[in-house]
Amino acid sequence: AMYTAKSRGLDSVVYSDHSTEGIGGAILTELREALQSGPETAGLAVHYQPQVELGSGEVVGVEALVRWRHQRLGWIAPTEFVPMAERGVLIGELTRWMLDTSLAQLRDWEDAGLKLRVAVNISVRDLQSVELADFLARRLVHYQLPADRLRVEIDDASSISGRENVQAALDALEDLGVGISLDHFGIGYCSLTRLRRLPVSEVKIDSSFVSRLMSDDDDAAVVRSIVDLASALELAVVAEGVEDEPTWRALAALGCNGAQGNYFAHPMPPEDVVLLLRDGSRFPLLRAVSS
Ligand code: C2E
Ligand code: MG
Ligand code: MG
Repeated sequence: AMYTAKSRGLDSVVYSDHSTEGIGGAILTELREALQSGPETAGLAVHYQPQVELGSGEVVGVEALVRWRHQRLGWIAPTEFVPMAERGVLIGELTRWMLDTSLAQLRDWEDAGLKLRVAVNISVRDLQSVELADFLARRLVHYQLPADRLRVEIDDASSISGRENVQAALDALEDLGVGISLDHFGIGYCSLTRLRRLPVSEVKIDSSFVSRLMSDDDDAAVVRSIVDLASALELAVVAEGVEDEPTWRALAALGCNGAQGNYFAHPMPPEDVVLLLRDGSRFPLLRAVSS
């Protein structure tokens, strides 16, 4: 990575292998307790991965990613515990905590002179009503932040389309001015008609296509068509999981708007974002290309 964490030597989290142990109901109970009794003391944290605008090489935003360091089990990956939380009401509490923590962080950065945008992953289950938009309207006022500094990333476009309450929840977020981003784009099934109807402002090209961009012609074709589609529909397009320089350059040449990935920077604790941006927020290689 171009930049790694400096403050704690914690450049990337290495998850323990829970595959033999299996994590189940007990963990869910502990997650509930963690969220109710003070997430920070129970080992929950938010790490932020910089997102770079490919044209300018500037860091324009960060994606907030939940991290959980369990007392006995060590780091547990969100891909393990988020789906568990999504089976019940706990996901709502996790989402609200992530949103509140990320907005508080944005406020702190702003007060320190750093103007950033934050993208927070939310679940389709958070879109059963317009409650989320009401919650966000209040938090944005509380932190005195304009809504367009927040983006929500939604997974699984196929399950959000064609459902009225979900459409209403998304419309409420759009009315508020919050950006909506489709995560893991290209993996699921989302018809063009549905895509056009959803109030989406951005698509994120799934890392599985990005990682094979340079080695597989079919994946390169998929990436190219997503970029073209996004531009035809006037959506921004961001590539994720960029791990090397050739891929980074190829994405810029294809007209991709933004990129994130371990090549540029790993997800990192918030104090490292400050260090990174203090060192110069521009990506040196691209600055050389574009200026
Ligand atoms: P995602 O939203 O697509 O997040 C990007 C994932 O790719 C992150 O994994 C990140 O650490 C990883 N990544 C970043 N750069 C690279 C790279 O260059 N190469 C590779 N191979 N991976 C890279 P993470 O943090 O383990 O999160 C996995 C997924 O869990 C996320 O995918 C998202 O769907 C979900 N998730 C994470 N945090 C939250 C959250 O707070 N709420 C919800 N609902 N879901 C979350
Ligand atoms: Mg995401
Ligand atoms: Mg993603």
